[in-house]
Amino acid sequence: MDNPLKALTDELVRVHDLAAIHELLDWDQQTFMPRAGAEARARQTALLAGLAHERFTSDRIGELLDACSNMDLSDDEWVVVDRVARDRKRALCLPTSLVEELARVTSEAHQVWVTARSAKRFDLFEEILGRVIDLKRQKATAVGWPDGGHPYDALLDGYEPGATVAFLDPLIREVSDESSKALQAVMGSSVSPRTDILRRGFSVEKQEAFCRRVLDAMGFDFEAGRLDESAHPFTTSFDPHDVRLTTRYHGDYLPAAIFGAIHEGGHGLYEQGLDLDHIGTPLSEPGSLGLHESQSRLWENQIGRSLPFWRFWYPVLQETFGDVLSDVSLEAFHLAVNGVRPSLIRVEADEVTYNLHIAVRYELEKALIAGDLAVGDLPEAWNERMESLVGVRPESDSDGVLQDVHWSMGLIGYFPTYLLGNLYAAQFAVAAREQITDFDDRIAAGDLMSLREWLRNQVHRQGRRYEAPQLVERVTGRPPSAESFSGYLKERFGPLYDVTW
Ligand code: ZN
Repeated sequence: MDNPLKALTDELVRVHDLAAIHELLDWDQQTFMPRAGAEARARQTALLAGLAHERFTSDRIGELLDACSNMDLSDDEWVVVDRVARDRKRALCLPTSLVEELARVTSEAHQVWVTARSAKRFDLFEEILGRVIDLKRQKATAVGWPDGGHPYDALLDGYEPGATVAFLDPLIREVSDESSKALQAVMGSSVSPRTDILRRGFSVEKQEAFCRRVLDAMGFDFEAGRLDESAHPFTTSFDPHDVRLTTRYHGDYLPAAIFGAIHEGGHGLYEQGLDLDHIGTPLSEPGSLGLHESQSRLWENQIGRSLPFWRFWYPVLQETFGDVLSDVSLEAFHLAVNGVRPSLIRVEADEVTYNLHIAVRYELEKALIAGDLAVGDLPEAWNERMESLVGVRPESDSDGVLQDVHWSMGLIGYFPTYLLGNLYAAQFAVAAREQITDFDDRIAAGDLMSLREWLRNQVHRQGRRYEAPQLVERVTGRPPSAESFSGYLKERFGPLYDVTW
């Protein structure tokens, strides 16, 4: 018999490749696929999801795992066997019919959402969203959750292993309270950023050229990746050698493209930085979605909205756009990209209000999954919570409950990982500043590679050797908490707006 570990790895690579083909179809659907292709695409993705699921839950993988667990394993080998056994146990709870139905319904729901959103009509989306929620509730029941836990825990675990409502509730409350305090202080400031300077005419070709230049400096390898355009920026990866980023360009609004590209670039560096010797196994998989988001948010905000970053890049930006920004100082530009204002759209939200948007979605998702909130009541519940937490009320569903793609894709339990990403990012940034000598000077000199190398060693190459809380503690010396993020809000926005809280 072959070495069972080698045979297991071969099987895992095949499952990984089936999943990658599925991802490629999804990427195509969100970038280039003609609208009429939706029905066939729903069928194709359902087929691939089913094939990957069947292969992963096959007796063959079960037998190989049993054989491996009787071997004398190194630490890394043990990680592979343990994580695969854990994933397989979860997958075995799900009948193939449910996996296929979820893939089919969410593929269809995505297209319905696109139509409903542009028509600003939730009623068009309501029926199919109800089916998605129902399937996700079935999934939660099939997977199960710990005694005394919440059905939402079952879904969370799929994105952020080990995260629970009991862990998140107090954390999200604390972050919301801190964000509200910061927001109140900043709103009371007499400093007002000139955000109009970001709404001038910016050639889309030049925006793209600038984005590519920054990504290149960050160390994103264009030989092993692409940058394209989509309605909702995202990153997908089929292999560390083929990582796809998207951003979006508005000819009259500069930040969307730049911060979209830097954000997705952070995700892309994580994927390109995974361990090349173990592709297809948990040693070469991201640790969690929260960790993934920590990479994007660290680059986008901790670095991309910092003064040292723009000391180097603002002259480049000015030069790129000719006269468009010639009358705007570095300081005015830096303040503008850190503009704070309660707003309706999460992806355009500033860092002070961003987590409040997540808190709204978190409460609603928990209620939907627990069966405490009917899908038909969602728009009103959304509007009420936005008004009480963020202080603004949407006038149309497309600026409210229909704004995000996630629910149409069945991504429920996913939003909290964005908030965790912000917290992890703040902790990683503190550690990077302590561990990389002359950190700010390097950033101000255009050196982004030192940070990329540090992240590669500390985070990317670790794969799934540690769960997120362990990895955060290992890198930063402290378990995940809201402390660094709260400190960061004070340090960044206090001086900019000349306020304290
Ligand atoms: Zn992201």
